[in-house]
Amino acid sequence: MLTTGKKTVDTEIRCAHCSEVCDDDSIRADDKNFCCLGCIK
Ligand SMILES: [Zn+2]
Repeated sequence: MLTTGKKTVDTEIRCAHCSEVCDDDSIRADDKNFCCLGCIK
């Protein structure tokens, strides 16, 4: 892993369904985060 001087994001968002790390927090439902729309179902 390369160190770019960027601050490490320690507020990692994980999918409430499959526990995958979410790229963004735009997919939300029921106050939970999901990695994709398929996981909300
Ligand atoms: Zn998921």
